[in-house]
Amino acid sequence: MTEAATPRLEVAGLSRRFGARAVVADLSLAIAAGQVTCLLGPSGCGKSTTLRIIAGVDRPDAGTIRIDGRVVCDDRVAVPPERRSVGLMFQDFALFPHLTVAGNVGFGLAGMDRQTAAARVGELLERVNLPGFAAKYPHELSGGEQQRVALARALAPRPRVMLMDEPFSGLDNRLRDGIRDSTLDLLKETGTAVLLVTHEPDEAMRMADEIALMRDGRIVQQGAPYNIYNAPADRAAAAFFSDIN
Ligand code: ADP
Ligand code: MG
Repeated sequence: MTEAATPRLEVAGLSRRFGARAVVADLSLAIAAGQVTCLLGPSGCGKSTTLRIIAGVDRPDAGTIRIDGRVVCDDRVAVPPERRSVGLMFQDFALFPHLTVAGNVGFGLAGMDRQTAAARVGELLERVNLPGFAAKYPHELSGGEQQRVALARALAPRPRVMLMDEPFSGLDNRLRDGIRDSTLDLLKETGTAVLLVTHEPDEAMRMADEIALMRDGRIVQQGAPYNIYNAPADRAAAAFFSDIN
């Protein structure tokens, strides 16, 4: 396989049970560099569990995960999260309250010399339009500002793959569309592969190159947003999209 054809992220046959319940069932997907895939489905269908397994903070019962062709998880291998080159972003942003904005953004740059790390932090704060915020603390920021700090923090170590779990759900309705668009611009600029989890069809339609529609732990349909919107695989998929205006 040529380098260009190797997906940034490749998940095959991922399964996870909690007790008797299959929360993730034989899930497979591949994401190329620069591609945004939305894992879309109703609450409780297994999206966050899937993301946590890919991040490496939970282990599957079966399946293989490759990043840039390298196995980071299978029945013998379990590369720890900090060595998978994944960036993480959550609904509540999960900033470190005792660290400044600069401390948060630079958190993943521990291996870098201080000057280079400081330059990288400054560059990212400019890019997310928060110049002058370096010395502030998270509690001094609005929700939208916290979201941008979380995005800068996740991107700082130049991850190969970005994993985002409902990263806009906590935001005010008025801000959300603008922040979605600016986030997407920045993600596209970095060329990282993005897996974005959401339960909102309109968010997936707005952001995704590809939608993976999930239900009861399985991907029931996968494709370009308008193909799925125009030709949902079944009645449940159609109903799920029907509240988009
Ligand atoms: P989603 O993110 O799509 O809303 P989750 O992946 O968070 O769904 O959860 C899927 C299902 O798995 C839910 O029913 C949830 O209660 C269950 N679940 C998640 N984590 C655990 C756990 N650690 N132990 C038991 N059940 C869990
Ligand atoms: Mg979830």
